[in-house]
Amino acid sequence: MATAAVIGSGIGGIAAAIRLAVKGYRVTVFEANTSFGGKMTQFTLPGGYRFDAGPSLFTLPHLVDELFTLAGRNPKDYFNYQRLPVVTEYFWPDGTHLTAHADPQKFAQEAEKKLGVPQKDLLKHLQKVARLYHATADTFLHKSLHRLDTYLSPDVLKTLPALPELGLATTMHAANARAFKDPRLVQLLDRYATYNGSDPYQAPGTLNLIPHLEFNIGAFYPEGGIFAIAHSLVQLAEELGVQFYYREPVLEILTNGNKATGVRTALDKYLVDVVVSNMDVVPTYRKLLPNQPAPEKTLAQPRSSSALIYYWGISQEFPKLDLHNIFFSQDYQKEFEHIFQKKTVSEDPTVYVNITSKYSPKDAPAGHENWFVMVNVPHNEGQDWDQLIQQTRKSVLKKLSAALGVDLEPLIAAERIWDPRGIEQDTSSFGGALYGSSSNNRMAAFLRHPNFTSKLKGLYFVGGSVHPGGGIPLCLLSAKIAGDLVPASIASVSA
Ligand code: FAD
Repeated sequence: MATAAVIGSGIGGIAAAIRLAVKGYRVTVFEANTSFGGKMTQFTLPGGYRFDAGPSLFTLPHLVDELFTLAGRNPKDYFNYQRLPVVTEYFWPDGTHLTAHADPQKFAQEAEKKLGVPQKDLLKHLQKVARLYHATADTFLHKSLHRLDTYLSPDVLKTLPALPELGLATTMHAANARAFKDPRLVQLLDRYATYNGSDPYQAPGTLNLIPHLEFNIGAFYPEGGIFAIAHSLVQLAEELGVQFYYREPVLEILTNGNKATGVRTALDKYLVDVVVSNMDVVPTYRKLLPNQPAPEKTLAQPRSSSALIYYWGISQEFPKLDLHNIFFSQDYQKEFEHIFQKKTVSEDPTVYVNITSKYSPKDAPAGHENWFVMVNVPHNEGQDWDQLIQQTRKSVLKKLSAALGVDLEPLIAAERIWDPRGIEQDTSSFGGALYGSSSNNRMAAFLRHPNFTSKLKGLYFVGGSVHPGGGIPLCLLSAKIAGDLVPASIASVSA
């Protein structure tokens, strides 16, 4: 039986392990932490508050279902979710409160009522992004961009006519500002740049396809929270015979000539046929392959944003709030200049509040809520995070208290904070970046590391720092692309 070692049990690593197990490999996953999930982990705070530590928005759930189906299981026996009727509650400093309904018609009606945007304009926009998404996703997201067969595939024939409309030559913001006059709607649409840690004032207009996922396909909530994704997939992986070795960080990828031959940990050397790294690609080269030539141009790509998260147990319920809530800054451009040019945090940041107890009441005691309060910040370059944490906490409390008409600080019954240093330390993400490299230039998609390397046979890459990018769905797609590239059956070195 051919063998595989997967380095890391983030969502990309778990999905890759499942795909290789289905292909007939005997798979071992090596994880530095005490448990699986990477950024997709969970914890509780005293007083009975449960939190998903990292991701909170879930789109394209069929990519999770697909793994169960691939293994001959009924996904519903393991993993269930519901489509959200409301995607996000939006609040602006001028007092505007807009409910972004999942139903495009209702969303457009609300935008007309609250922002004065003609319904037909917004609906036309959503139809356009749907059309462009369908024309391009197979080429840009579902396949490797680094193999000739991608460009020879019939999918390219439907992608080519869409290219001029993709907005590659303009920025997201410029395209949105051209499409709509209302600055609040432009800000709402610009916000999708943050879904892969980018800056709407630099990122290409192509990223304007992201809202299609929420409004045309839907945003979803897994039963039991986001952690249920990782949990159910690990259950499946274990049923398929995948072995998870926790607290066993990989220290080196073993090579012989131009072939990856295994991994070394503090406990042993493991010789395998295939190695899959789910570790961020920068430390994969720097730490695990120090003697191999590294793809310097790829590794030097600017990092995506990171996050400062305040996890708060709140001793009151807020009926006005939903699962996903955004409190916008007054000056969005200034906010992004702070993140990407000044590499600091503005004094008026946009604040995202995620409250899973709205859907999973057990996540907080009766009458309380569990608030995941997040601000986008630069990746870690040695900033004075202790000072920024205090400064931002004050700004966040001021903003939320004003918007909700309460004094919020006395309602905080429990608190934990995660900052870019902690994200880096806990998940090995270079600089604590949430999504690997940013998409702040036109060529970013092509400059992400491929899911393989032509320099070392038998070595593959999955997860948020490689093609097609960060976020749950794209990490799952990275495992699909890598899984498809791994040969179904090869001679086993260990046989
Ligand atoms: P990671 O989660 O990065 O995990 C890598 C794993 O590898 C870790 O467990 C680490 O310990 C292990 N590892 C690393 N090096 C080694 C080694 N040498 N040996 C053994 N093990 C090793 N995405 C969304 O889709 N929606 C969201 O709303 C969203 N919000 C986010 C909010 C926050 C605060 C964060 C942090 C992320 C968010 N993301 C979101 C991004 C999403 O979480 C990530 O893109 C995704 O979970 C990354 O998965 P991954 O496969 O790259 O692995």
